[in-house]
Amino acid sequence: MKLTSEQKLIQDMVRKFTKSELEPVASEFDKLENFPKNIIKKLAELGFLGIVVPEQYDGAALDAVSYCIIIEELSKVLGSVGMILVAHNALVELPILKYGNEEQKQKWLASLSMGETIGAFCLAEETGQDIKTQAKKIDGGYVISGKKTFITNGEVANLFIVFANVVDSNENLSLQNNEETPPSNKLTAFLIEREAKGFELNKIDVLGMKSAGVCNLKLQDVQVSEENILGQIGNGEKIIDEAFDFANLGIASLALGIGQAGLFDSIKYSKERNQFGHSISKFQLVQEILVEMKLKVTQAKLLVQETAYRYDSNENIKMDVALTKLSATDAAMFIGTNAIQVYGGYGYIKDYPVERYFRDAKVSQVWGGTSITQKSKIAKILLES
Ligand SMILES: Cc1cc2nc3c(=O)[nH]c(=O)nc-3n(C[C@H](O)[C@H](O)[C@H](O)COP(=O)(O)OP(=O)(O)OC[C@H]3O[C@@H](n4cnc5c(N)ncnc54)[C@H](O)[C@@H]3O)c2cc1C
Repeated sequence: MKLTSEQKLIQDMVRKFTKSELEPVASEFDKLENFPKNIIKKLAELGFLGIVVPEQYDGAALDAVSYCIIIEELSKVLGSVGMILVAHNALVELPILKYGNEEQKQKWLASLSMGETIGAFCLAEETGQDIKTQAKKIDGGYVISGKKTFITNGEVANLFIVFANVVDSNENLSLQNNEETPPSNKLTAFLIEREAKGFELNKIDVLGMKSAGVCNLKLQDVQVSEENILGQIGNGEKIIDEAFDFANLGIASLALGIGQAGLFDSIKYSKERNQFGHSISKFQLVQEILVEMKLKVTQAKLLVQETAYRYDSNENIKMDVALTKLSATDAAMFIGTNAIQVYGGYGYIKDYPVERYFRDAKVSQVWGGTSITQKSKIAKILLES
């Protein structure tokens, strides 16, 4: 796909930024497991914390193709930065933009775009799809209790979209008494600030994406008012569905970035490393690995660009997003694994970034719905058509 001059400009801008600002510190952030606050601040200055937010709310008002370019280029250098931006832009700003009332947009979008507020999205629970978090109706608002897990950005976020089932007092009582209760169909999104009383976050020790501040969250009788509801009571599923389409396009771009980095490094190393009097790039089985990597990364790139273009054209992209995520995340994992193979023992130690690509790539096959879930989605659409 041919990029427009504006998209090209953005690509150049991110590449310049990653070269001068991110590359020198990427490994250190991963090692120390630090949230890259200064980097995020600088990215906010470039407009990348409000990628699709309209200018009236101080956003950059860019298209989905540009969003994918930004995530891809940043993730080539540090996957965690791509992940932070996907959670913030796709899972928090987009739902507020699409479902928020004017007051909520005024209150949050400019602050999120400028990076003064960092957003996090709280759906996942230990019980998986069975959401146990409840919002009990009280006079003038709700009391929310429950436990959320895997909250990207949780370490530093100030604004959280929390999904809870709205129940009235009687429903809640019977749930506590373990009586048979019809499942509530009132999954609802609430905007909650970090300072809310009863809100407790704890960092999780994750395999990869060490700098994305992933946390568990406990909500103990957190009181919110009616104004904290995002959209309508009961439209949680709809919000999740739309947010996930855009997030999964971002996760595919993130995976593409990691895959490209792995391919680039593998080519370079294979030319430098000598065995039996030759550079290992002369061995045909090493060449085959490089060719397979290139093939997978090219397929992923074409899919990401085409799906982003179709997203911008307001086409139905449900199937395309699932295919794109599946392809790009499998490519990243294949390359993560095989880059270590090309590096031999040196791929397994922290002196080189390929072990990080391997760890970071894995989460792209899980976050936003596992690869198996993507396949189920694709099969469902295929069989319905
Ligand atoms: C680092 C990280 C960051 C994350 N960030 C966030 C975040 O910011 N916000 C958030 O809300 N969530 C977040 N998540 C949660 C993530 O989206 C879920 O972990 C993911 O959707 C998988 O859900 P699960 O962990 O409950 O696994 P499960 O759904 O229990 O899956 C376990 C296994 O069962 C399979 N399986 C499940 N259902 C089916 C089915 N119907 N048919 C066939 N197989 C099935 C899965 O494919 C998988 O192999 C994050 C996760 C990680 C690891």
